[in-house]
Amino acid sequence: MEGFSSSERAKSFTESVIREMTRVCIAHQGINLAQGFPDFPAPVEIKEEAVRAIREDFNQYSITWGTPPLRRAIAGKFARYNGLQVDPEREITVCCGSTEGMISSLMAIVNPGEEVIVFEPFYENYGPDAVLCGATPRFITLREPDWRFDEKELASLFNNKTKAIIINTPNNPTGKVFSRQELMFIAQLCQKWGVIAVTDEIYEHILYDGAEHVSMASIPGMASRTITINSISKTYSLTGWRVGWAIAAPAITASIRKVHDFLTVGAPHPLQEAAARALHMEQSYYIRLTSEYKQRRDFFFSSLVDAGFKAFKPDGAYYIMTDVSHWGYSDDVAFALKLVKEAGVATVPGSAFYSHPDLGRGKVRFCFPKKQETLEAAADRLLKFRP
Ligand code: GLN
Repeated sequence: MEGFSSSERAKSFTESVIREMTRVCIAHQGINLAQGFPDFPAPVEIKEEAVRAIREDFNQYSITWGTPPLRRAIAGKFARYNGLQVDPEREITVCCGSTEGMISSLMAIVNPGEEVIVFEPFYENYGPDAVLCGATPRFITLREPDWRFDEKELASLFNNKTKAIIINTPNNPTGKVFSRQELMFIAQLCQKWGVIAVTDEIYEHILYDGAEHVSMASIPGMASRTITINSISKTYSLTGWRVGWAIAAPAITASIRKVHDFLTVGAPHPLQEAAARALHMEQSYYIRLTSEYKQRRDFFFSSLVDAGFKAFKPDGAYYIMTDVSHWGYSDDVAFALKLVKEAGVATVPGSAFYSHPDLGRGKVRFCFPKKQETLEAAADRLLKFRP
């Protein structure tokens, strides 16, 4: 339309670089180590359950906040793995992926003019999520090599306008797993300032070298002021199914459910049936998942080091942040484009993860939820590319 001008809101953030790199990768027929999704199949019993649900005509809307069997399965797994008892009737909202869980949660609790604290490097969506609520994101930097934050710096960001803090553990893109001590420090600030912790725990089963996943809601005093977000995407390799959820105290859940209902009405009904099956997978499934990811991490981390990258070893999740500044590259976007064009390997430029792009200029992120043969092909290409 001539003279069209997009809304101020839409203007205030850029397109997702992660999704853009997937498109660039397709155009160059590269190996996609940019957008984090598996290239191996999902468990057969979960797929069969989805097929059954479609055959049996689970074709219409479910209850807007999720089918009862799925909410019961979520509560059961949360009790078993995270040690927290929640009421599936009043404390769980099933959403279209954790992405919708996050935006519905923020819209349910944050007012325009309030502030949301975000750790950076961040998963790209959090900043725009805050902006879509009319809130101002405030950033606290995790610093390499071990991605710690400065406690005083974090404390100084809390004020009367602070409504929420977003925590992603295990962390995308750094692989940091927040320690109990760090979470307790954040918890004490949340309690002092009346702030809600919104925690994205989607990588909770992808942990290395004995790292322990601690849920913020399990920290004393935090269950009533934490929204725990998760999904089937990463744990069961089903990123395209878009089934996630938000767990929160009844009053917060009531608000999230209203926003969720008007945004999406509900997650796909047959896939909710299958998600309930996923959450009943046996213990051996998670043990195998963790050990397979450890093999992938070990192989790809050493491949990156062999190819000359300065790589930061992750304790969790399925990404490796690297630094390429020693090669003289100071423009991460140009480097990532060169890598996909010349080597045929797509990554995400580091600046996509920072509010001050300069902090990410020398970095690129690789993801490794891939078959061994895919990782070997990528390793080969990177070795040949070595400047
Ligand atoms: N979480 C994945 C990533 O960081 C994919 C995100 C997405 O595109 N929804 O790459």
